[in-house]
Amino acid sequence: MRIGIYGGTFDPVHFGHLLAAEQCREQCSLDEVWFVPAATPPHKTTKDISPGENRAEMLELAIAGHSYFRVDRRELDREGYSYTVDTLTDIHDVEPTHELFLLLGGDSVIDFETWREPVKILQFATLVAVNRGRAPLDLTSFRRRFGEAGEQRLLCIEMPAIDVSATDIRNRVRDGRSIRFMTPRGVEEYINEHRLYR
Ligand code: ATP
Repeated sequence: MRIGIYGGTFDPVHFGHLLAAEQCREQCSLDEVWFVPAATPPHKTTKDISPGENRAEMLELAIAGHSYFRVDRRELDREGYSYTVDTLTDIHDVEPTHELFLLLGGDSVIDFETWREPVKILQFATLVAVNRGRAPLDLTSFRRRFGEAGEQRLLCIEMPAIDVSATDIRNRVRDGRSIRFMTPRGVEEYINEHRLYR
């Protein structure tokens, strides 16, 4: 099976994430997309992050009814930092016949070389860079570092931009402003019921 791996904090998941996942699924002919909420993302250690269980439950609500979307809790179940390379190694060990596609925001391609063991990541997965801007992605540094072999492991897809972020949603909730139509209704209700982000 062709599996898209979509990592993030998802605090909370919103329509930008869901549209990106759906566009990758369609444009790359993926059988499934697995949302992998991060326990303690290496780049966000100073930020307060909602408990993993809350973030995973909001993801479950957001993808309910979409049989080709799944929530994968392996990073929440693992102790300590969650590096992408460890997650991909783990998935590959358990499901060696799956073909893996790592879904990334366009910006992440530019700093991909700073990630932990990027060459190993490219051995395990094809990168899917999601471009939500008008200009083509700048692949100069990626090409310089990973060459032609790397480029063969890179797919670039376009999606209509939805300018929503989890930070904006959290700020709106804190300020008592509306988040309707930014995230699925079930997620909005969950945030209210659990009094998140106040
Ligand atoms: P935060 O505001 O807390 O930093 P976020 O909304 O950027 O969160 P993350 O969980 O950090 O969400 O992001 C996970 C992935 O989703 C990243 O690859 C990021 O590029 C992508 N992403 C975030 N927002 C959007 C959006 N509006 N449209 C498409 N992709 C998005």
